[in-house]
Amino acid sequence: MLKPVSARCNLNCTYCYYSAPAEGLTDLPPLMSPALLEDILKQALELSYPRVFFGWQGGEPTLMGAGYFRKALEAEKRFARAGHVIANGLQTNGILFDQAWAAVCRDYNVLVGLSIDGPAEVHNTYRKDANGQGAWASAMRASQILKEQGIAFSILCVVSQANVRKAKEIYRFFRSEGFTGLQFIPCIEPDSTSPTGISPESVSAGQYGEFLCELFDCWQSEWDSIYIRLFHAIMRTYAGLESGFCNVSPRCDNAVFFESSGDCYTCDFFPVEDWHLGNIADVPLAEMLYSDKLKEFTQLKRKLRGKECDNCRWEFACGGGCLRSYPLRVRHDGHPNFFCSAMKTFLSHAHTRLQAMADRVEAWVG
Ligand code: SF4
Ligand code: SF4
Repeated sequence: MLKPVSARCNLNCTYCYYSAPAEGLTDLPPLMSPALLEDILKQALELSYPRVFFGWQGGEPTLMGAGYFRKALEAEKRFARAGHVIANGLQTNGILFDQAWAAVCRDYNVLVGLSIDGPAEVHNTYRKDANGQGAWASAMRASQILKEQGIAFSILCVVSQANVRKAKEIYRFFRSEGFTGLQFIPCIEPDSTSPTGISPESVSAGQYGEFLCELFDCWQSEWDSIYIRLFHAIMRTYAGLESGFCNVSPRCDNAVFFESSGDCYTCDFFPVEDWHLGNIADVPLAEMLYSDKLKEFTQLKRKLRGKECDNCRWEFACGGGCLRSYPLRVRHDGHPNFFCSAMKTFLSHAHTRLQAMADRVEAWVG
């Protein structure tokens, strides 16, 4: 994952986990220079074969300009070897997404992730610009361009206090817009001033569990045509396959992310000294990717999640959750995974139907 503009953004979303204030930063590192970027791409392509995925995130990565992005994608092609399969994903709030961006994404088959939390009144609750104006109209305009240009895209929806009681409404809205790829991420942000230790926009485990159940009920009749990342990942585990999603795996990913300075960290929820692997200017990428520190990080969840997970009937489909909802990041009592009870509620609710879906998948595959 690359963050060429660091945490710079043209929005000021209330719940952002990677804004300068959220990171305690006063001075952001400079933008990633083309030379630095090429060095990272070159080393990554030397090390990874045949498949490589580059995720472009921020802040808001479109602030780097479509020309910068096109040059980066050209550089990837230049550094690729015969047989390399390179995929790119761009996560954006859509504000700057115009025809120039669409042309680059179309030319290079970039998968776009567009952040939309639901209809206008929901989206605009927390997703605002520096003047406090909601950003829904810009995001919807971007979705229109993506549809018109035939670019593959999926919707990233943050589940917060603005929409956690509205699963049905949100799902219907997305479907009415013709969106067929969806990802839902529960908001859980630390807040040291709150007695609960969690920000006011964050959702409780009880709320999130109910949200997942309602969402699943809406989706189940079109599960084979509408992609919801969490549900598909879990369904894969029911079919005896790898989930392909670290959030439901007992192991964290060994993917890394680069700040614009060239500093490399483990997962982007942990841009902290403890999980700093080095700077590309001083340490070769190979050394960072095969470091003990990255290995330790990938195994941390299994260590922290506790015996309850080892003995849990849902472990195969839940894995212990994501470390961003662990006390490592968010102070709370009870099971280390803040959303443990949400997963238990959801999996008890959907178990039989997930099994039936997985049986059909197995029949197709078989
Ligand atoms: S449901 Fe809870 S106990 Fe079970 S695997 Fe998930 S986090 Fe662990
Ligand atoms: S902390 Fe969460 S997002 Fe990061 S690698 Fe682990 S499971 Fe994945």
